[in-house]
Amino acid sequence: SRIPRIVILGAGYGGIVTALRLQKQLNYNEADVTLVNKHDYHYITTHLHMPAAGTDKPDNARVNITKLIDEFKIDFVKSTAVQIRTEDKKIVLEEGTLSYDYLVVGLGGEPETFGIPGLKEYALNIRSINSVRYIREHIEYQFAKYKREPSCTDLLTFIVGGAGFTGIEFVGELADRIPELCKEFDVDPSLVKIYNIEAAPTALPGFDPELVEYAMNVLKNKGVTFKIATAIKECTPEGVVLATGEEIKSATVIWTGGIRGNHMLEEAGFETMRGRIKVDDYLRAPGHDNIYVLGDCSIVMSPEGRPYPPTAQISMQQAEVCSHNLVSQIRGSELKKFEFKPKGTVASLGRGEAIGIVGSRKIKGGVASVMKKIIDLRYLYIIGGIPLVLKKGRF
Ligand code: FAD
Repeated sequence: SRIPRIVILGAGYGGIVTALRLQKQLNYNEADVTLVNKHDYHYITTHLHMPAAGTDKPDNARVNITKLIDEFKIDFVKSTAVQIRTEDKKIVLEEGTLSYDYLVVGLGGEPETFGIPGLKEYALNIRSINSVRYIREHIEYQFAKYKREPSCTDLLTFIVGGAGFTGIEFVGELADRIPELCKEFDVDPSLVKIYNIEAAPTALPGFDPELVEYAMNVLKNKGVTFKIATAIKECTPEGVVLATGEEIKSATVIWTGGIRGNHMLEEAGFETMRGRIKVDDYLRAPGHDNIYVLGDCSIVMSPEGRPYPPTAQISMQQAEVCSHNLVSQIRGSELKKFEFKPKGTVASLGRGEAIGIVGSRKIKGGVASVMKKIIDLRYLYIIGGIPLVLKKGRF
């Protein structure tokens, strides 16, 4: 009989780890595996706050896909998928189509704007190499522009919407970058303002309150102004309008307030919640025994009945079970249930500072910052071994 075809959409955390595991576990001629990704590189999303703020180079947050996979075992196709057709098991790409017997969806998330007017049009998002290069250039340009229009101090106001992990990590980096930019462009640092605005009653909702307080104090000391329990009502070309009626003028609004699943899932007719598919115990889309959904496109419920937050950590654990289940399905052996094993969370607050929970231990400051670096290095080791650690590691 014909060799089964596996198509993996997206070479993010879920997709690339699935591809690497399949390349190891499948025997010769057991399946044809094709990996499809928009770019010829994988980006290390968890590093993107650094190049966005300009504290690191964008190149350090990406790796060529062909450096990671064995092209004799996996076909890599650089293309953008535009449609998933479950009825005839085809994927429509920008150029051409692909047929699959098994599909792995690892397309990542898209910004969730909760219908707030203007966010889609005027806010920037930290989501890819292209987007962070733009944010970095945009921020530098505001400094240059201010020198031509010294009465426009609003150019030196930077607004970050959302104080979840991405928002907090980004303001930490931005606060570190501001003194450098002030020096470079001869700008008085006291004119620069960074606002972090969050609608929930606390920053980092759901995280340990003592660590949240520590994080906010570190960031306040670096010059960040928090507006917590304050919703953004509208984003305009001139800044944001808050639910309180207050208006903050700024040419830079960076939205990190939430993500949803890839729009193609809804369009393909899957049942979704905020664009995500609530997968079965084996990580498959309900009613589709041949379609696995990973990472930010999926929802996995905790034993308490709440969705786990979408993270790189859960995506990679899903990839392990997904590759196991694909191989088992092809061999006719038993599938494994997915169970998330939280390894802890560490969030960076800029240079030398972080907070986190590892196991049941709270960590903060320098210790947490070193832990964050170890987690990042470990990931590079998992996908590319020692050579990648040496090449892209931030020590
Ligand atoms: P992604 O890693 O987002 O990858 C999706 C891939 O699909 C990309 O390569 C993309 O180019 C490709 N793609 C998209 N659309 C198409 C298309 N139409 N056709 C072809 N290819 C396509 N998580 C943690 O666990 N720890 C952290 O410390 C952490 N820090 C973060 C910091 C920042 C600044 C951000 C933004 C996120 C952070 N996260 C962190 C969250 C984590 O990055 C995501 O949850 C994770 O990347 C999701 O993985 P994924 O496999 O679902 O998709």
